[in-house]
Amino acid sequence: MNVQETALRNPATGDTTAGLLLDRGSLFLRRTTAVATAAAVEAEEIDLKARFPKAAIDAARAEKLLGMQIPVEFGGFGATIHDVTEVCYTLGRACASTAMIFAMHQTKVACLIRHGTGSDWHEALMRRVASEQLLLASSTTEGQNGGNIRSSAAAVEQSSGEISLVRSATVISYGAEADGIVTIARRAGDAAASDQVLLAMTKDNYTLERIQGWETLGMRGTCSAGFELKIKGPAKMIFPDAYEKVHAQTMTPVAHLCWSSAWAGIAAAAVERAQRFIRKAARGAGGQMPPGAAHFTAAKMSLAKLRAMIAVNLDLYAAHEYDERALASLDFQSSINLLKVEASELAVEAVMSAMRACGLAGYRNDGEFSVGRHLRDVLSSPLMINNDRILANIATASLMSGVPTTLRD
Ligand SMILES: Cc1cc2nc3c(=O)[nH]c(=O)nc-3n(C[C@H](O)[C@H](O)[C@H](O)COP(=O)(O)OP(=O)(O)OC[C@H]3O[C@@H](n4cnc5c(N)ncnc54)[C@H](O)[C@@H]3O)c2cc1C
Repeated sequence: MNVQETALRNPATGDTTAGLLLDRGSLFLRRTTAVATAAAVEAEEIDLKARFPKAAIDAARAEKLLGMQIPVEFGGFGATIHDVTEVCYTLGRACASTAMIFAMHQTKVACLIRHGTGSDWHEALMRRVASEQLLLASSTTEGQNGGNIRSSAAAVEQSSGEISLVRSATVISYGAEADGIVTIARRAGDAAASDQVLLAMTKDNYTLERIQGWETLGMRGTCSAGFELKIKGPAKMIFPDAYEKVHAQTMTPVAHLCWSSAWAGIAAAAVERAQRFIRKAARGAGGQMPPGAAHFTAAKMSLAKLRAMIAVNLDLYAAHEYDERALASLDFQSSINLLKVEASELAVEAVMSAMRACGLAGYRNDGEFSVGRHLRDVLSSPLMINNDRILANIATASLMSGVPTTLRD
């Protein structure tokens, strides 16, 4: 194994984060393998009982992956978007719910890092995410507003440095299990629905009262129940940047990249089962390909397109991560939104083709070639911020941005 003789050192304290570390890729690979192993063991039961994947998330804590993105100076590993999405993909192959929980948590952490640095409150929270491996949940969906994130009903009430907020949070994945929440709200009682702020806090500053359960087709282990969310605490819980900026620069790109990687992982797991099925069938027929082989090829093709699309957008985001103008551009915003739409469609396509390749063996809920769980899980992807809504929102921008004149510009 490739061992690097350097440790990640915290410049503030001089402490090393984890003693002697392997090089970056090996470090995350080793840690992720431990989490994926725990996730795979409980994946079926998580789905069956709609239970939170506690063993997998505990393993992520033990491997310090919940704080992997936190900069080294705040006690984390300073992981990049490429590192984080690789973990999402690997976990997606093992357990879709675990991967989605990890993806949502990392999206919140990215907002904290990018838009909270320089704010005492948010820097303290970053340190705690790294040292205590806190799990952060997300509350954007409100009332019957669906995925209309850029519009809030509940408003922050402020009085002498203290704020309060009561929100009908109809869906909060792992809300009951999280250590903290990142949520949006209208800036004040007289603010427009789109004049929003983002807040981050731990359990000391909120209560949750369950208003809805989570009895769904798939992604059952995300335990995305509905709650009345009541927040009380210091005004400094509000991020210095307006939500509009956080949304465009970090929340949307990181969410779409992490979610897509998790869905690609689900697709890869289904394709792998189809491959084993076709190989076994071909062996049993003296090398003769079974009739479903063409569907396996189609599944592989969808997965290849999906991975290529994620890779292009990952490089695009990484190249412009610190360039506010580039992130705000029509081209980038269209690309990162279309990634979510296309990735979700391709992931569904890949799993569906894998099921057709396996035939009844894939359709069955038992047996080594079953892809029923993968299909149910991946069917959440076009709905998780509905593709129709995204396409309607970017229609005007798509019309305004030019058609490329060269193949690779
Ligand atoms: C697994 C999972 C986990 C989730 N976790 C969280 C979480 O942790 N926190 C959180 O806040 N939310 C979470 N959500 C909710 C998610 O963010 C969206 O709010 C939700 O999926 C949108 O639900 P919807 O389709 O009912 O709503 P809508 O987006 O309102 O869609 C409803 C219907 O209207 C149609 N529609 C909407 N807009 C348009 C349009 N402009 N043009 C044409 N048709 C349109 C859609 O096609 C759809 O048929 C989660 C969702 C899932 C599936």
